[in-house]
Amino acid sequence: MAHRTDALFRDDAYLRRADATVVAVNDRGAIILDRSIFYATSGGQLGDTGHIERGDGSRIAIAAAITGETKDEIIHVPAPEQAGPWIGEKVSLAIDWDRRHLLMRMHSACHLLSVVCPFPITGAAVSEDDSRVDFDMPDASFSKEEVTASLMDLVRADHPIFTRLISDEDLAANPGLVKSKNVRPPVGTGSIRLVCIGDNASVDSQPCGGTHVKSTGEVGEIHIGKIEKKGRENRRFRIRFGPMPAN
Ligand SMILES: [Zn+2]
Repeated sequence: MAHRTDALFRDDAYLRRADATVVAVNDRGAIILDRSIFYATSGGQLGDTGHIERGDGSRIAIAAAITGETKDEIIHVPAPEQAGPWIGEKVSLAIDWDRRHLLMRMHSACHLLSVVCPFPITGAAVSEDDSRVDFDMPDASFSKEEVTASLMDLVRADHPIFTRLISDEDLAANPGLVKSKNVRPPVGTGSIRLVCIGDNASVDSQPCGGTHVKSTGEVGEIHIGKIEKKGRENRRFRIRFGPMPAN
């Protein structure tokens, strides 16, 4: 039976710690809680690492967080050879915040890239030091210098980033909100979460379940490391932190 984990990071991506209760431990030792601050790998964003602190003060290192039978079930995968908690145990959670914050900055940077390059997205992967977004675009008329300059204009403008829920009907009436070519947002639950950028979402809004920083300024300095050709109509953009290296 799939459990429904209350995903606390959806309402507050800045939660570093929280208390929770163990609801299940599966046969491989993976832990399911009633609520969690661990983002589970999905939508191209890597899941969180961190630890679960038990009542006696001992810690269980969490090596990965993944979704279970349904997207609403978060599975906390412990590092090998650790004693598991018991069902009903009250624990406290801590994510590896420095890593998560890098992932939030990177994920927001990927959304900015989709503003600068308004083409259908065919794939994306957000990791802490290098992210990629693949676009269905026939010609590579974009240079990495130009795209970097446009990205940094959006960063310096320090636009707010926030989430908003819309109905399935509103999404159906606004198909342009969906930027991903192959992945459709999950409909049928009654509402879709949009990640919006700019006052009144003037810069961008798109369906996304990921964790984001609260303003574009917090993304910080980024640059396009590479634009690669992947097939005739596919371009892969790599985003990295820091200034563009001189060469
Ligand atoms: Zn996203």
